[in-house]
Amino acid sequence: MNKTRIHAIEKVASIRPPETMSVSFDINDYGTDVFGIECMRERLPKAVFKTLYKTIAESSPLDASVADDVANAMKRWAIDKGATHYTHWFQPLTGTTAEKHDAFLEPDSNGRAINSFSGKNLIVGEPDASSFPSGGLRATFEARGYTAWDPSSPAFIKRHPNGATLCIPTAFCSYTGEALDKKTPLLKSTQALAKAVKRFVKCFGETGEHMPKVTLGPEQEYFLIDKNFYFARPDLVQTGRTLFGAPPPKHQQLEDHYFGAIKHRVLTFMTDVERELWRLGIPAKTRHNEVAPAQYEIAPLFEELNLACDHNMMVMEVLRQKADEHGFVCLLHEKPFAGINGSGKHNNWSVSYNGYNLLEPGNDPHQNAIFLTMLCAVIQAVDDNADILRVATASAGNDHRLGANEAPPAIISIFLGEQLTDVIEQIEKGCLKSSKHGGIMKIGVDTLPPLPRDATDRNRTSPFAFTGNKFEFRAPGSSHSCAGANVVINTIVADALDKISTELEKFPKKNFNEKLQVLLQKIIKAHKRIIFNGDGYTAAWKKEAAKRGLPNAATTPEALGAFVSEKSKALFTKYNVFTEAELESRYEIFMEEYAKKVKIEGELSLSMARTIIQPAAGKQVAELAEGLVSMQAAGLTDGFTAKREMATILGRYLDSVTAKCNDLEAALKTGNQAPVLKAMAALRADVDALELLIDDEIWPLPKYREMLFIS
Ligand code: ADP
Ligand code: MG
Repeated sequence: MNKTRIHAIEKVASIRPPETMSVSFDINDYGTDVFGIECMRERLPKAVFKTLYKTIAESSPLDASVADDVANAMKRWAIDKGATHYTHWFQPLTGTTAEKHDAFLEPDSNGRAINSFSGKNLIVGEPDASSFPSGGLRATFEARGYTAWDPSSPAFIKRHPNGATLCIPTAFCSYTGEALDKKTPLLKSTQALAKAVKRFVKCFGETGEHMPKVTLGPEQEYFLIDKNFYFARPDLVQTGRTLFGAPPPKHQQLEDHYFGAIKHRVLTFMTDVERELWRLGIPAKTRHNEVAPAQYEIAPLFEELNLACDHNMMVMEVLRQKADEHGFVCLLHEKPFAGINGSGKHNNWSVSYNGYNLLEPGNDPHQNAIFLTMLCAVIQAVDDNADILRVATASAGNDHRLGANEAPPAIISIFLGEQLTDVIEQIEKGCLKSSKHGGIMKIGVDTLPPLPRDATDRNRTSPFAFTGNKFEFRAPGSSHSCAGANVVINTIVADALDKISTELEKFPKKNFNEKLQVLLQKIIKAHKRIIFNGDGYTAAWKKEAAKRGLPNAATTPEALGAFVSEKSKALFTKYNVFTEAELESRYEIFMEEYAKKVKIEGELSLSMARTIIQPAAGKQVAELAEGLVSMQAAGLTDGFTAKREMATILGRYLDSVTAKCNDLEAALKTGNQAPVLKAMAALRADVDALELLIDDEIWPLPKYREMLFIS
């Protein structure tokens, strides 16, 4: 008998959380593992600090003359912290982070060694790039890739039980300058948006020299299961999700997990995660149980976009690392368990200028005019580019959320809430009245009705929701880098703002407000089809959305095409975010990644069915058959028919599983993903039915009710 599963349960049951925390945290420890502004001010010569600070504040290129001084200070700081190595920390197109460590150590001529780290080491690295996906951008004979320091994201220390490494956030590009990473286009898109915002606010008389700030607060969902179960599930180990598994009678239907009291073992883990994050200057703020059993969320306070994206990559890494130390495994896959909620990453995005959030309805008419115009710009941007926005959420894992009957749907729409929709409708009719006060309201002259941030008015099914002072894009997957979604949001909003500014710049000062009203009316009329406040799960919405002409790409291959459309190429090249070659290469990479992932899952389904499930079912049939023989020998008739029927049913499933394995094998040979996915689903239906029939002692794989509830 295969005892793996039973042993796993026994082991988990005997685990006791540690009685005291391994590490303590003082509020003054916040950010101590970051080479941040204060640290630089302390350790750098005044003039050098000034130059570097300017670089950071203005996101301008680093003055090479200060690099040696900065490197020296950084090295001494890192060595004080116990670091022996440094690495350029970058985000290749695999979707994870990459690091190649170099020791500070440098032998001298006397057979001894010194610690060395130069300005050149800090500014550029030359990792061998040949094994990173490049989508044809970099021929393998030209394997060199370059990493370049991004001073807008500070260096930090990554600790391990036996030392520490200095991590320098970098961008990664090919020898010929094409971006091979996620950070480069993000920085470019942020720059494009900042420029467009400056032009836009200038139309409203804001002529100051402030740098617009794009902000992001990513909420991260994840599952936590005991490591013992994980290792007994080859599908989790290899693909991050369960390829088989019957839904348990109780899962999330009682709604008793969401915001429930957090188990001590989990809380101990969470606390450890937060302390690590705080030391890294990552403002982890919120933690709670999510809807599905064993599902949780961590959310930081929002930060400047580029930093927030880097920090989210670190959050995912620390979650995984700490889970491992606590005997858990953190599952970041979008759909680890069928039949219960999957995990997303809620991308809370906004833009501020001179300290004002441009998406915050203000109290004075001037601010409200900017707010409403900004809102209309986002509406126009999303409606014009819903298909491109969908690309940013497309992956094999996320298909199980977006395309399936789960929030949010694959159809991109905007939720504004009742009050704001009312305002928008009034602008459309050309008579903006305050619904609350009944008076006539002109943009820029009178004030908006107060718009409280209404927590009850949240629509959890909308992929793109206005939530009081920001937009929350809920379609990205839990494992995705935040960069993808925000590159698109930044660029499409920059484009909409530029189009609007072109109009605004023509308006004569004396009747600016009247002209603005007419412009907003025009935008709303043209783009209101993207606004939908109803339930995004329903079949009725699918129909309605089709009637409105909104794109609905249910799967990744359907979605990705929009990335290389003429529209997309025109948009991204206009803003210098991607070249055509970069778009083409990314398209290739994403398609290939999708194909590879489906193939891996298909092959694993097949081998698990043949080598784990079928033998278990066979064992059970044999056992029943032996029982039948001995019953017959003993002349027992009661229960004989039932036993025989059971053996017959299982035998039929065995035949059926065999046939479906053969189908899957054939589908895999076609090299196409759709038939593989279809054959996997058919096979899974049989396997999951078998799980509900076979003797619990024989069933080899940890069951959902165990993985999700025992920890
Ligand atoms: P909820 O789960 O109710 O949506 P959370 O508090 O979990 O809310 O997450 C909201 C996120 O939005 C937080 O990370 C928060 O810091 C972020 N946020 C708030 N204001 C802004 C803003 N102006 N720009 C970007 N993100 C913001
Ligand atoms: Mg939340």
